[in-house]
Amino acid sequence: MSFEKEMYEVKEKWEESYFSEGDLRRIETVKAMMPKTVGSVLDVGCGNGILVNYLSNNHSHEFQRICGCDRSETSLQFVKTEKVKASIDQLPFSDKEFDLVTCLEVIEHLPQEVYIKALKELQRIASKYIIVSVPNDEDLLLNRVTCPKCITAFSPFYHMRNFTSSSLANLFEGSCKVVEVKAIEKVIGPRFPRLKQKISRWIHPELFPSSCICPMCGYNEFDKLKSTQRSPDSKINETVEITGLSKFWPHTYKEKWLVALFEKL
Ligand SMILES: [Zn+2]
Repeated sequence: MSFEKEMYEVKEKWEESYFSEGDLRRIETVKAMMPKTVGSVLDVGCGNGILVNYLSNNHSHEFQRICGCDRSETSLQFVKTEKVKASIDQLPFSDKEFDLVTCLEVIEHLPQEVYIKALKELQRIASKYIIVSVPNDEDLLLNRVTCPKCITAFSPFYHMRNFTSSSLANLFEGSCKVVEVKAIEKVIGPRFPRLKQKISRWIHPELFPSSCICPMCGYNEFDKLKSTQRSPDSKINETVEITGLSKFWPHTYKEKWLVALFEKL
């Protein structure tokens, strides 16, 4: 198993406490964007079932079928609806099997070859609609961490691509029409973040997040992961808090995520 794959089999990462209230609001937004005519939903890369469990617990009467699929066996243990273990580039479903296919916080993780196949699979399985959510214009260079053992720099979330609202809107160009793109969950952050990070790291050495594993050598600090662990984002921000720089550094606001609803042509 690759180190990257191993990261998604760490049980603590899938416990409910690992997700923030913002994540729950993101799920509520996704539900609110679902057209009323949708009777069946497949969530691809469902993780611990954050969406499908929410739908089944709160809106089960609106759907005939709610299904989640993920390649991580560990994450699927938390899924309480119909579930299937599968990889996004080869999904064991028929053409147009579901009215709506959702894919939330997944495609930014995919290497190019898998990414191309994944987009095709989402379009193949959806009969009417697709909903995709991604981080909003993420600064991948800023968010890199460095492995203390082999000095490889990598995204702690294994994010490989950046999306803006316009690049997301063009995701299924030619086969789907964009109904709506929403930027959600305004969060505070520093202005000139790369400069602030440089100064922070000069004052205080970089922390290696306990939630990730080096894709090159497998270095990790998983033993520090407790079920009370906060989200990976807040872990990274701790570097900033320790330096106390935040007290006087100018800040700005930005929406954390983009959610787009597509209708098949
Ligand atoms: Zn390493």
